[in-house]
Amino acid sequence: MTKATAYILLGSNMGDSYRYIRSAIEKISKLETTSIAAQSSMITTPPLEYTHQPDFLNTVVAIHTQLSPQLLLGKLQEIENSLGRVRHIPKGPRTIDCDILLYSDVVCTTPALTLPHPQIYTRPFAAELLLEIDNDIIDPLSHKPLREVVLCHQ
Ligand code: AMP
Repeated sequence: MTKATAYILLGSNMGDSYRYIRSAIEKISKLETTSIAAQSSMITTPPLEYTHQPDFLNTVVAIHTQLSPQLLLGKLQEIENSLGRVRHIPKGPRTIDCDILLYSDVVCTTPALTLPHPQIYTRPFAAELLLEIDNDIIDPLSHKPLREVVLCHQ
């Protein structure tokens, strides 16, 4: 079975954020049939929706995996839980957040899993980190280069 390429956005704004992100990447690399293919730079971003909280540290990793999108999401939620993620305030501070930005060219619009992740189009930094890894990513919705699509949303 060929491996899919997925892009995961990691974010943290509680405790030692750098360590939480490193630990999450380590745990992702140990998932069955999964390997880390690339990592973007790490950047600091201001909170957007719930703004009374510290800045976030963010990075994107590209992975190769045979896990289905739903299984991958479940594994990422287990990793979040194992790193002490507690949901006190919606969109509030968190030790670690793992979002699947893209899973190959899969389009999915269930509440539990939306692909591509909408924040690719609403948060310029998410697309910037993706394009830093691969500037030629094709947007699964429009089938156009993502770099052109996100320019239209700015
Ligand atoms: P958050 O508060 O950002 O961690 O949102 C978590 C919720 O978003 C979970 O209930 C997930 O099922 C849902 N979700 C929908 N699409 C995605 C996605 N592409 N990646 C991660 N979580 C997703």
